[in-house]
Amino acid sequence: MTRPSAARSGPALSGPAQSGPAQSGAAQPGPAQSGAPQSGAEQRELLAGLLPALRAYAIPLRNRFRGITVREGALLPGPAGWGEFSPFAEYGPAESARWLASAIESATIGWPDPVRDTVGVNVTVPAVDPELAHRIVAGSGCRTAKVKVAEPGQSEADDIGRVEAVRDALGPAGRIRVDANGGWEIDQAARMLRRLCAFGLEYAEQPCATLAELASLRRLVDVPLAADESIRKASDPLAVRAAGAADIVVLKVAPLGGVRAALAVAAGCGLPVVVSSAVESSVGLAAGVALAAALPDLAYDCGLATMNLLTGDVTDDPLMPTAGMLPLRAVTVDMKRLAHWECDPEPWRRRALAAAEFLA
Ligand SMILES: [Mg+2]
Repeated sequence: MTRPSAARSGPALSGPAQSGPAQSGAAQPGPAQSGAPQSGAEQRELLAGLLPALRAYAIPLRNRFRGITVREGALLPGPAGWGEFSPFAEYGPAESARWLASAIESATIGWPDPVRDTVGVNVTVPAVDPELAHRIVAGSGCRTAKVKVAEPGQSEADDIGRVEAVRDALGPAGRIRVDANGGWEIDQAARMLRRLCAFGLEYAEQPCATLAELASLRRLVDVPLAADESIRKASDPLAVRAAGAADIVVLKVAPLGGVRAALAVAAGCGLPVVVSSAVESSVGLAAGVALAAALPDLAYDCGLATMNLLTGDVTDDPLMPTAGMLPLRAVTVDMKRLAHWECDPEPWRRRALAAAEFLA
């Protein structure tokens, strides 16, 4: 088995405009090279060496997502590879600090040893008509589909028709999960999940908005429930379990503070994990694959096949699935490709410095 080293050797730079801490010599991996978590002081010291080489990108999305049409972020090259710092615009310094910790981890110490070198991923089916849903799934190569439901302005019949078409495209062995993004009330969720169970559901992701609603719904239906939006910080997955609100947790690397922090959260909450992306560039997605590859148990396909939601990437070799699988690998940032999407790095340096005050 090809096992990318936990501490990768040098930033995967290509193209003419490379500059980075490997050249400046400022950022050296500290004691955390061994795999121990980095302290806040250590992270701030490493960040000072990384910031001069920070690059920023703005890549349009194919479709509006979370109210945005352009995905923006920063990339930090370091001795272990590239890290991505791309908290959404509304996140303040305290919340962004975890995203920054994740970027510093990727750039300076790399990731923990993997237990697998490929990760199964789902195709995502937006709230489209049944014919298009069928085409998306049939052309994906994935055995698992995540179907968006409860879209504002659409009917319950629309959701049922879409899930039916996806089951037809996947065949009986395929797995279907639905994601309501918290869009159902408890009664509607119970009614819809009972009807959708006719097509075989693996689980339902965030059918209702709050943990209390999820806990109530869980007593009404047999289909397993996954918590996604109700998890934003490291303490939340523990609250999910304490509330009896879900059977599965959806974890994202950057909002939890990196691969090691997310592994600790997964171990602490004791529930099966689905690793999902925050719709990053391939640099950020690679950290998601690293988490999925390092989890002791991975029973579900992951939500990391999101590169095609963006109209471009910062690498010549985007992290896209083959036959429903993503490989664990470092991502090489291509400077010419990055230049196409590049924007002013100064606001991102300021954001990183503000967030650094909150590194734990
Ligand atoms: Mg979701």
